[in-house]
Amino acid sequence: MNALAATSRNFKQAAKLLGLDSKLEKSLLIPFREIKVECTIPKDDGTLASYVGFRVQHDNARGPMKGGIRYHHEVDPDEVNALAQLMTWKTAVANIPYGGAKGGIGCSPGDLSISELERLTRVFTQKIHDLIGIHTDVPAPDMGTNSQTMAWILDEYSKFHGYSPAVVTGKPVDLGGSLGRDAATGRGVLFATEALLAEHGKGIAGQRFVIQGFGNVGSWAAQLISEAGGKVIAISDVTGAVKNSNGLDIAKLMKHSSENRGIKGFDGGDAIDPRSLLTEECDVLIPAALGGVINKDNANEIKAKYIIEAANHPTDPEADEASTSDSIWQTNTPTATKCTICLKCFLSEFLLQILSKKGVLILPDILANSGGVTVSYFEWVQNIQGFMWDEEKVNNELKTYMTRGFRDVKEMCRSHHCDLRMGAFTLGVNRVARATVLRGWEA
Ligand code: GLU
Repeated sequence: MNALAATSRNFKQAAKLLGLDSKLEKSLLIPFREIKVECTIPKDDGTLASYVGFRVQHDNARGPMKGGIRYHHEVDPDEVNALAQLMTWKTAVANIPYGGAKGGIGCSPGDLSISELERLTRVFTQKIHDLIGIHTDVPAPDMGTNSQTMAWILDEYSKFHGYSPAVVTGKPVDLGGSLGRDAATGRGVLFATEALLAEHGKGIAGQRFVIQGFGNVGSWAAQLISEAGGKVIAISDVTGAVKNSNGLDIAKLMKHSSENRGIKGFDGGDAIDPRSLLTEECDVLIPAALGGVINKDNANEIKAKYIIEAANHPTDPEADEASTSDSIWQTNTPTATKCTICLKCFLSEFLLQILSKKGVLILPDILANSGGVTVSYFEWVQNIQGFMWDEEKVNNELKTYMTRGFRDVKEMCRSHHCDLRMGAFTLGVNRVARATVLRGWEA
């Protein structure tokens, strides 16, 4: 199922659970604006190359639209649309005053030189500068982009509008970026995982983790989890996968990866087939790379007890369905009999046994990876106030937001008798629907 169909399916299920007015439901699904631009740049060899760029602004009922810009060869309008929609529900789950947006350019950033990437970013910014802004739409990094990309967007935008650091987040600290932003998504994953495990009387220490992806999110998650006493036993990236049942030395792996542009060849473990990584025996599986990686082809083979969705949309709904028929997976079906997380059920020894023996508890992306956009919000606030927080304050505030997000989702699970994904979707959709109605929405 493509990303847009999957996201819309989750939204519709949440709307049904909430008993949302059908016209409001329809209007919440339709994006506010979809932008498509051609970005033509001279390559270093003197030839011309053209790349298609997108920015989808999904909803602004709760505040300026917010979301990353992705550089990846698989970027397409449907995917950007789905990711923009996910940002709307994510910012609402995190309860930060934003709507949702997402952008992307269909390119392979690894094949472009730094100066080609700079030219591409500047041309893209020239084409969208009138449609973004501190109080309209605030971009940030995503897959294939980083703080340098944001610095170029800020500089290009400022040529048209004057120096405006709050127009992007995830900037270098020297240009008004926030301390702690780089690690924020990974740190948020740690806090969300802690909150989930605590429900079952467990902590990070002693749990075995498998992480797919060793980019910004996966590498920080691995580092922070291992610092907290978790045993990270297998990791993959685009170059390969490595396993060590005694726990990988993450600091050494980071060094190897930065020196060798990937984890391939790391001698602190055994090389394994990256395709088998997701089905490795472990307690907690963290997909931190692309979407749709857990699907009907591998869902029944997953052995983890918990999945923490650090990536956006890593679990295809068909995976739920494939596994549900075998009673292995948590179902998304919003019926009281299939409740899997509400407090009543937590207290039920019987259900806990079923869960631990058979179930896989999924912490959904719009909660699990909301740490990045949450610290983006702190960055924007600091820019607007012209004041800089120390890193301890950033991390403490992030913990407060992640813990509160988990608590609010759990509350929705309890009141709507649904799993964590639907708990998060109902929470986010309900907040956006309420803001929309309060602002004067009329059918
Ligand atoms: N790209 C990140 C996400 O998907 C961060 C977005 C932001 O900070 O605006 O959540």
